[in-house]
Amino acid sequence: MSEEKSLNFIEEIIENDIANGVNGGRIHTRFPPEPNGYLHIGHATSICLNFGLAKKYNGKCNLRFDDTNPVTEDTEYVESIKNDIKWLGFEWDNEFYASDYFEQLYQFAVTLINKGLAYVDDSTADEIAAQKGSTVTPGTNSPYRERSIEENLRLFQEMRDGKYQDGEKTLRAKIDMAHPNLLLRDPLMYRIKHAHHHRTGDKWCIYPMYDYAHGQSDSIEQITHSICTLEFIHHRPLYNWFIEQLGIFPSHQYEFARRNLTYTVMSKRKLLQLVNEKHVAGWDDPRMPTVSGMRRRGYPAAALRQFCDTVGIAKRENIVDVGLLEFCVREQLNQTADRVMAVLDPVKLTISNYSLGEEWMEIENNPETPNGTRKVPFSKELWIEREDFMEVAPKKYFRLAPDMMVRLKGAYIVKCDDFKKDENGNIIEIICSYIPESRSGSDTSGIHVKGTIHWVSIPHAKTAEVRMYDRLFKVEDPSSEDGDFKDYINPDSLHILPNVYIEHALGSATSGQSFQFIRKGYFSVDADSTADKLIFNRTVTLKDSWAKEVKKG
Ligand code: ATP
Ligand code: MG
Repeated sequence: MSEEKSLNFIEEIIENDIANGVNGGRIHTRFPPEPNGYLHIGHATSICLNFGLAKKYNGKCNLRFDDTNPVTEDTEYVESIKNDIKWLGFEWDNEFYASDYFEQLYQFAVTLINKGLAYVDDSTADEIAAQKGSTVTPGTNSPYRERSIEENLRLFQEMRDGKYQDGEKTLRAKIDMAHPNLLLRDPLMYRIKHAHHHRTGDKWCIYPMYDYAHGQSDSIEQITHSICTLEFIHHRPLYNWFIEQLGIFPSHQYEFARRNLTYTVMSKRKLLQLVNEKHVAGWDDPRMPTVSGMRRRGYPAAALRQFCDTVGIAKRENIVDVGLLEFCVREQLNQTADRVMAVLDPVKLTISNYSLGEEWMEIENNPETPNGTRKVPFSKELWIEREDFMEVAPKKYFRLAPDMMVRLKGAYIVKCDDFKKDENGNIIEIICSYIPESRSGSDTSGIHVKGTIHWVSIPHAKTAEVRMYDRLFKVEDPSSEDGDFKDYINPDSLHILPNVYIEHALGSATSGQSFQFIRKGYFSVDADSTADKLIFNRTVTLKDSWAKEVKKG
């Protein structure tokens, strides 16, 4: 029997609503990104939640671009967002744009003016701020608050017609300047902005504020459960106020805690700074916490979904260990990535008694999820990792040292007979002899060795560049440290190995493919690769070496 996963608090609300026949049991969510940047892992959480709920409860989920701010938005972002959602494995039922509702939102505003619930204000931004009051003092009414409905209708039309400059007038809801919730002290509904919009062009010069546009857009789409992050909790009464005064479909807002992750930052504003100031190569730099960065780094979409599922959602802010995300990445790649051999820090090994020229060893691709075998060329001269040889072996070192034996993965047992150094004392060659009867699969040697090392045949080897990535920041929560978050960037987050030897079969690897370089980690082919030059990104190490580093201090 499979274990029942307990419901999260939003699922509880939904199941309760279904049981009570709210909206006839219909579930309709939406994911409402503002197209002003690329999606990050926080958005992925919201995507998994909203699309996941729709799927689980036979409902629908809309993709709605919340494009009410013309200045920061761009179609490049729209395309990247759609691409990322699809890659994550979700399909939207409808693709909508808040800007498609501009006319309807304008008419709603006219309705509120007609009900005496909105007015045109000539106060400047500073004056409006001064009218706000504070948590302990009530605000003061704007001198324009008592304009007649007729005057408000005329002025609002003139605002729309472009008669006024940016900032000259605003439309405000007429609620209560002494309301205990400051957000309900006559909040702005519209501002004047003579700016080109990525979809509506120059049609509009007044744009609705988030608080006014969001709930009404939800209502227009008959969204039943409008899920957002916790910082909007105090906006909920305003969300409800507009819907109630307009008497339109009663969408409801629910809040959950933002997803935060250690060793990174997660606001689009900060990510944009990293891109613009060239701390990273772009939004999809493999060190970025963006969906596109993670994809490029080689994280499978299933790992992101598993992560979101495992962590679940909370009602209170917290910060999740990025190690958990990496754990999910390893779990997925362990199932799907073929094992291959690559030597990152090479030293030459010569087998003095090998006279067969070359042999092609048949090696299993993936012991976890059988995926056939491949032929790997073997010869007298091999590359092995420098760290797999020691002149003087300490206890429990089961690799190569004078007189010690190891198995070469998928091939033979070899014994170290000698080694050579250059004039600076660096090891340049290790000389071994092999045991002909010890060939993997038909081993009759009766010899048992404790260590197995990987290798690449020198005459058959291909070369590649490998980009070793590490945490982008040196501290767990750069945003909560003193000073600028960029002061905490890890200067060693990218280390390039220009000349790594990879096995023959990898020569035909294509962009996006993932492999386990045995004993070294998971690596995926970067999009920068060309026909002559393969580039691999280190996706994740095999073990959490970072945790060890931290403990060592
Ligand atoms: P940022 O603060 O990173 O710029 P945002 O909230 O302004 O993000 P939007 O494009 O408005 O970004 O977000 C779209 C949806 O994704 C919203 O419903 C928002 O609540 C959700 N979301 C954004 N960031 C996170 C996060 N860190 N964790 C969970 N959900 C998030
Ligand atoms: Mg936002």
